[in-house]
Amino acid sequence: MNIIIADNAGFCFGVKRAIDISLQELETSNNNIYSLGPLIHNAQAVELLKMKGLDIIENPEKVNKGKIIIRSHGIPMDIDNKIKKSNLEMIDCTCPYVKSIHKKVGDYYKQGYHIVIIGDPNHPEIIGINGWCNNTAYIINSEEDAIRLADMDKICIVSQTTNTQEKFNSLSKMVQNKGKEVIIFNTICNATNLRQETCKEISKKVNAMIVIGGYHSSNTNKLVEISKKYCKNVFHVETYKDLPLQELLKFNTIGITAGASTPDWIIKEVVETMDNLNNNEMMEAIENSFTRIHRGDIIKGKVIFVTN
Ligand code: SF4
Repeated sequence: MNIIIADNAGFCFGVKRAIDISLQELETSNNNIYSLGPLIHNAQAVELLKMKGLDIIENPEKVNKGKIIIRSHGIPMDIDNKIKKSNLEMIDCTCPYVKSIHKKVGDYYKQGYHIVIIGDPNHPEIIGINGWCNNTAYIINSEEDAIRLADMDKICIVSQTTNTQEKFNSLSKMVQNKGKEVIIFNTICNATNLRQETCKEISKKVNAMIVIGGYHSSNTNKLVEISKKYCKNVFHVETYKDLPLQELLKFNTIGITAGASTPDWIIKEVVETMDNLNNNEMMEAIENSFTRIHRGDIIKGKVIFVTN
């Protein structure tokens, strides 16, 4: 069995930054520390942070002292203002990529543009962005949504940072025909682009893909979507416990990637489980056929096991 691991699998810059700042606060601060919503969309990492003392709250008005961490997805302007006026100390871990979208929609809204966001209306990042243009944005997530949009004079289009390029390109093209003056900002972030490109390349080469990440993680689900386009057998797992080991034994070449909110330790456990599976398979092959088998070194981003 050959296994290929995406070299950019796992935490992106924005998520890593939020986790690092939070861990530092948890280690050094004597205050109560809260996060507004789960810090990342990964149940295992959230559980670990909870054990270290990070309490999740959904409404900042429910607490009146301590520190409140804003996750990488960002928050709407009115909540930002409320926290700044409260007794809570705000630790803003909004990803700079998301912050720049807040600024764009705020500026263009003030100049009289209608804001169109291409993304999931229920995702916290989109709820946050909408809050910086007075919650007036048209949020579209499908061709049907784009068709339903009325014609407008001036339109400013932005994207959820984790969208696929394909979806953004096709929907923004449709919206372009709805306005007389249209400004398009492709705000899909670099980390997403890189992960999706690598995922696509690996999916084309393998018989099966394993995508590791939270079942509710938007960027992980996008990787699953891309994998399914190029590979028939795709397995979305949250941890090594979800791996369908018997089924995986059927495949010669397996690719592994992980969402931007998947911690390294979870990726490592999956890789180790696959390593063991590979070793067991090799032992069986040796016993059954006395074939000579070589095993390569584990190198992230390269083919890691080679059997002859
Ligand atoms: Fe920032 Fe992109 Fe990561 Fe979102 S996916 S936190 S925008 S780097």
